[in-house]
Amino acid sequence: MTAKAVAPVMGEDMPILIGLNREELAAAMAEVGVPERQRRMRASQLWHWLYVRGVSDFSYMTNIAKDLRAKLAETFSLARPEIVDEQISVDGTRKWLFRFPPRGAGRPVEVETVYIPEEGRGTLCVSSQVGCTLTCTFCHTGTQKLVRNLTSEEILSQILLARDRLGDFPDATTPQGTVVPSEGRLVTNVVMMGMGEPLYNFENIKKALLIASDGDGLSLSKRRITLSTSGVVPEIFRTGDEIGCSLAISLHAVNDELRNVLVPINKKWPLKDLLEACRNYPGLSNAKRITFEYVMLKGINDSNKDALELVRLLKGIPAKINLIPFNPWPGSEYECSDWERIEEFSDIVNRAGYASPIRTPRGRDIFAACGQLKSASERMRKKDRDAIAVGA
Ligand code: SF4
Repeated sequence: MTAKAVAPVMGEDMPILIGLNREELAAAMAEVGVPERQRRMRASQLWHWLYVRGVSDFSYMTNIAKDLRAKLAETFSLARPEIVDEQISVDGTRKWLFRFPPRGAGRPVEVETVYIPEEGRGTLCVSSQVGCTLTCTFCHTGTQKLVRNLTSEEILSQILLARDRLGDFPDATTPQGTVVPSEGRLVTNVVMMGMGEPLYNFENIKKALLIASDGDGLSLSKRRITLSTSGVVPEIFRTGDEIGCSLAISLHAVNDELRNVLVPINKKWPLKDLLEACRNYPGLSNAKRITFEYVMLKGINDSNKDALELVRLLKGIPAKINLIPFNPWPGSEYECSDWERIEEFSDIVNRAGYASPIRTPRGRDIFAACGQLKSASERMRKKDRDAIAVGA
């Protein structure tokens, strides 16, 4: 029953109910003849089945009359994306390649989603775009040109399908041998750190994350949802104000000259503007700190001077610094800093009063680690992209 059943795979034919907000779901009920006074109630029932129970088939919705279920099934789909590949690392990290159908013109697209189990939590790293417009030089995804933004449904589907596969819905069973936290929910945290720049897909991300954090549905705490941006300054305030999730910044350099190379969006919004936006992030406090991600690149950004400058730059911002040992990928031009160097860097930052954990590389053997994600989806032809833009 529920998510254990083999989920139907998405086609292109029918509208999908996943990813609609409550109002849109109620409006969709009109299409199957539900009288106006019952629409909100029916939408709440569906919401429960979709997001609490994780069902992907109308026939399981036992508190909805049979004939209405039949009409729903004729009109709408609850299908999941296709799982093209599932790889499991020696450390238990899982990487899925999910395929979504074309939207309008174009071809099906594929994205990667990664699950990282730890002792007390399970983190799902979710993608926001297929490819990326940005070209951060240390990041493999950045070598894949943008194909398109993911829709709110496609963003949520990554969470739903990961929970299906892990057996993380009520009544579901976790497959034997799966590495998961020892107790509680299996997906406790979501990080928007997969493929793409989430703040270049703001509306879809916002819609998906508000659904994911709805207390009567997937019920992920907003504190446990982290959106990571390379520094799209104009959207940072809105992220805190309209979504209310935690914020992470891909910092990686402490001066504009180097950051212009590592994270080229810095040319548009330099460090001064970025840090100003961080200082103004809604809800910022010692209990809700911004995470600054800093990839450790040998001989590039890892000196003691860099560490001291980092501390100076972040003065006054409630912050935590995640030091990420560089994860190599084919063709990358950087090397990871030596371990002693990373520890010394961490000590300097730590002594200044900032938590600076060194992130243990996870899933390196399956190319699931930070900055290693990339799918084979090709850049859409201009003609196809224009056709989508017209239809949008
Ligand atoms: S780090 Fe993020 S924003 Fe930069 S290229 Fe990679 S996916 Fe894009």
